[in-house]
Amino acid sequence: MKFSVYNTLTGKKEEIIPVEEGKVRLYTCGPTVYNYAHIGNLRTYIFEDVLKKSLEYIGFEVKHAMNITDVGHLESDSDSGEDKMALGASREKKTVWEIARFYEEAFLKDCELLNIKRPYVVCRATEHIEDMIKFIQLLEQKGFTYIANGNVYFSIEKFPDYTKLANLSIDELKAGSRVEVDPHKKNPMDFVLWFTNSKFSNQIMQWESPWGKGFPGWHIECSAMSMKYLGDRIDIHCGGVDHIPVHHTNEIAQSESAVGHKWVNYWMHGEFLVFDNGKMSKSNGGFLTVSKLIEKGFSPLDYRYFCLQSKYKKQLVFSFESLKEAQKSFSRLKSKIKGILESKNAEDMLNEDNIKSYQAKFAEQISDDLNIANAFTILSEVIKDEALNNSEKVYLIEDFDRVFSLNLTEINNANENLSVDDTYINNLIQERNQARKEKNWARADEIRNILLDQNIELIDSKEGTAWKGK
Ligand code: AMP
Ligand code: ZN
Repeated sequence: MKFSVYNTLTGKKEEIIPVEEGKVRLYTCGPTVYNYAHIGNLRTYIFEDVLKKSLEYIGFEVKHAMNITDVGHLESDSDSGEDKMALGASREKKTVWEIARFYEEAFLKDCELLNIKRPYVVCRATEHIEDMIKFIQLLEQKGFTYIANGNVYFSIEKFPDYTKLANLSIDELKAGSRVEVDPHKKNPMDFVLWFTNSKFSNQIMQWESPWGKGFPGWHIECSAMSMKYLGDRIDIHCGGVDHIPVHHTNEIAQSESAVGHKWVNYWMHGEFLVFDNGKMSKSNGGFLTVSKLIEKGFSPLDYRYFCLQSKYKKQLVFSFESLKEAQKSFSRLKSKIKGILESKNAEDMLNEDNIKSYQAKFAEQISDDLNIANAFTILSEVIKDEALNNSEKVYLIEDFDRVFSLNLTEINNANENLSVDDTYINNLIQERNQARKEKNWARADEIRNILLDQNIELIDSKEGTAWKGK
């Protein structure tokens, strides 16, 4: 079956023809771990997860690698601003290493709650400095770099295709990226491959290199690590749309200069999650996390369901009202499925033609540039179809859920009304115990009420605190 996606590089919808038949090499840009991932970031990871699972549904074997940016790269994509990791460390009075590991773990936990499958390779930038140095040396040997003021720069003039991904002129790119003027750059769009001359006197993450002690620029990690794990011809590379004009443009420039041929065949970009008053960003502090959603009575899978209702290529406006609507619709869907599960007859036989014809319809939708909205329509048809017996319905629902990953057939009877899981409740109980120890009665009460709002009652006794669903 044809699997088509919108390719940012060509501006067209194209059929995916992998370099190696039947195998897709997928690279997705991972998080910068200096703070929690916000739900906007997570929208992008959900989109990438659905992409991977759709490819797998169709029958491709997917080899997926994702980086963890744990090197303190700078606030702006264009080599300017503050060091993000150092900002996190001073905010929380921890070392940059502690910050990196803490938020990496928090990110992976969020992904788990959202049923985002862990990539085949998750690689940390700090553990691949040698690979980056070798990559920069190769670029240096091939004449693509220059050194100024102690830093190694990539010279974009040596790469005539520089503007091909964003499809903008250099002047438009310049205007869009609001670059801070760096007098050492020959061209304002040149970018740093290796810094030895940090403007921060107390830079902690530093490594020896042929150019002196220092640290890598941000973009080089994705090129070096993706090639290490996936080879120098990659099928699909993804990220959010913000990465098109700088990060991915720079990744292409350095990678294709190093290998001397086309590097990635299909570039896919997820549009942003926005508030009605503007964009959600990690650095502006005003962002929502998965735990915040849980605190407000939503399960992580309510959020996943919410994201799946809109096309990845369209901006999605977030509000608690629209999330509530999604939660209601998800709950209606689950109760219909519950009815089917309960009335399933163990003697029902599966008719292969019935199954295959629905699988084909479903596959057709997901392989049409991830038309997940239509895939949900197929799911509704299955639920309503009187020609199908309940065993066939359950089989198909479980089959489609390999892509949706919404735990559609997991019905937890004991705590049916709960939208949260045990880990979340136990974490809150622990936090409440700590608050009580510190005589912070306001927070302790607040936690009791947060759980009450979700129909969970706390029972204190000499043995400790237990909970029950109301
Ligand atoms: P970062 O940790 O900032 O490198 O971002 C991680 C991923 O989230 C990248 O793929 C970004 O493009 C993406 N991203 C950042 N902000 C948003 C947003 N508001 N909505 C959707 N994706 C986003
Ligand atoms: Zn990247």
